[in-house]
Amino acid sequence: SPKLRLVEVSKSYGPVQALRPTSLEVEEGEFLTLLGPSGSGKSTLLQLLAGLVAVDSGQIWIDGALSTRTPPHKRGLGVVFQNYALFPHLTVADNIAFPLEMRRMERAEIDRRVREILEIVQLPQLGDRLPRELSGGQQQRVAFARCAVYAPPIILMDEPLGALDKQLRDQMQGEIRRLHRELGATIIFVTHDQEEAMSMSDRICLMRDGSIEQLAKPSELYFRP
Ligand code: ADP
Ligand code: ADP
Repeated sequence: SPKLRLVEVSKSYGPVQALRPTSLEVEEGEFLTLLGPSGSGKSTLLQLLAGLVAVDSGQIWIDGALSTRTPPHKRGLGVVFQNYALFPHLTVADNIAFPLEMRRMERAEIDRRVREILEIVQLPQLGDRLPRELSGGQQQRVAFARCAVYAPPIILMDEPLGALDKQLRDQMQGEIRRLHRELGATIIFVTHDQEEAMSMSDRICLMRDGSIEQLAKPSELYFRP
């Protein structure tokens, strides 16, 4: 059975149909990118999958089980969203260490992994800071680091590579590829960067006005001129 399945899922905000009734299946280990203009429903689809907002109608299945609104981490989901907060009272390093501590990993190994991932997201000096002392973009890199160190089986990422310089972008892309190829994570990734979508995805879901307009491999996608 598919890793993730949406059956006629919809969501409106007042008169705005953020997501029209939509069905979608994602296979285990697949890298699916949601691509489309601002306001086309990408984030809404991701937040519904994460269980962070309730569906108006339809069903979401994860690993063959009907999903309920339990917190994402309890359903094997890692999320990297702008608005999904870090723990405000924990330092950056402790935020990243948290999921590893929950799994009772050895202290020395936790410290090693936290140092390593802080290098990758280019925040090696900020481990002792609190989240509120960081910019929004830096906080999102910490959220990415927290997700990457514990490598959950399903990862949902909302524009994790937006507005980064080239070197950092390449490094984080490399880390995302590692999660996908080496660790076999199922990844749903949101971007509005066509090139990024083409280079990273197994399939691309092209969204427009709250609907899936096309769902195809990068090589088979048709772009309107
Ligand atoms: P995208 O991620 O593709 O930019 P969104 O899913 O964020 O699109 O938004 C889809 C539509 O739903 C937009 O018209 C947006 O304004 C609206 N929308 C999204 N979230 C909310 C919200 N919390 N309250 C009201 N409208 C929302
Ligand atoms: P509870 O005390 O409700 O059983 P936990 O001890 O598992 O929950 O986690 C406490 C809080 O920490 C939860 O509300 C959850 O939002 C958050 N949390 C735990 N682990 C993670 C994680 N890996 N990623 C994001 N948030 C997490």
